[in-house]
Amino acid sequence: AIAVRGLHKHYGNHEVLKGIDFFVDAGQVVCVIGPSGSGKSTLLRCVNRLEEPSAGEILIEGVDICDPETDLDEMRSRIGMVFQQFNLFPHLSVLKNLTLAQRNVRGRSKDEAVQIARQNLEKVGLSTKESAYPAHLSGGQQQRVAIARALSMKPDMMLFDEPTSALDPELVGDVLGVMKELAQEGMTMMVVTHEMGFAREVGDKLVFMDGGVVVEEGLPVEVLSNPQHERTQSFLSKVL
Ligand code: ATP
Ligand code: MG
Repeated sequence: AIAVRGLHKHYGNHEVLKGIDFFVDAGQVVCVIGPSGSGKSTLLRCVNRLEEPSAGEILIEGVDICDPETDLDEMRSRIGMVFQQFNLFPHLSVLKNLTLAQRNVRGRSKDEAVQIARQNLEKVGLSTKESAYPAHLSGGQQQRVAIARALSMKPDMMLFDEPTSALDPELVGDVLGVMKELAQEGMTMMVVTHEMGFAREVGDKLVFMDGGVVVEEGLPVEVLSNPQHERTQSFLSKVL
């Protein structure tokens, strides 16, 4: 589970997160929507401390990630992260992309890493691509490789930051399909997305952010069909 309490983040005197309370229970899928610049990525990046919070508390499975005693590498290896720009290593084959961190961070043997990598490539429907290089794959295939790479670490939870925003429309469905399957298997997920259909169908909770605060949250179908706040209504009227 992820628990964020009273989170503030500022860059110089620009306050980007202004006191966020945010929870994802084990096995839940929480989707985050909101206008550009509202702080969605900053929130997500604080959760595995790619950004340093200015104030507040972030607990992963009850452990405060800002506690100096916390083993940051160990904690991060339990949190899979998928970005808008797939961030694959361009000079490594698909299989090498999937085995590198398993070996370096998890200390797995080559055989074990390869076996786990192949299981995850099969799961995302890319078994035939293990020798390919990222540049020879479509965007949708690259993003599915990125998901398989994150899963190969056997994370307890997955964070997604607009995983389909850089994709051609016809490639979005394959990636969302993989994410839906993960959700059905009980993966704990935090998903920043503009895919309202996914949020409605797969999300357990929908959070609307604007101006560095959580304006509104609730069951996706309720937030989408009956938004309570004027700012949520205005945002949804532009994107739905
Ligand atoms: P988008 O939908 O465009 O991805 P977002 O909701 O993810 O937007 P963030 O990327 O979290 O928004 O950015 C929130 C605000 O913080 C923006 O005003 C941005 O300019 C600012 N910001 C983000 N990162 C930094 C940084 N490293 N230094 C200074 N300002 C930053
Ligand atoms: Mg963002």
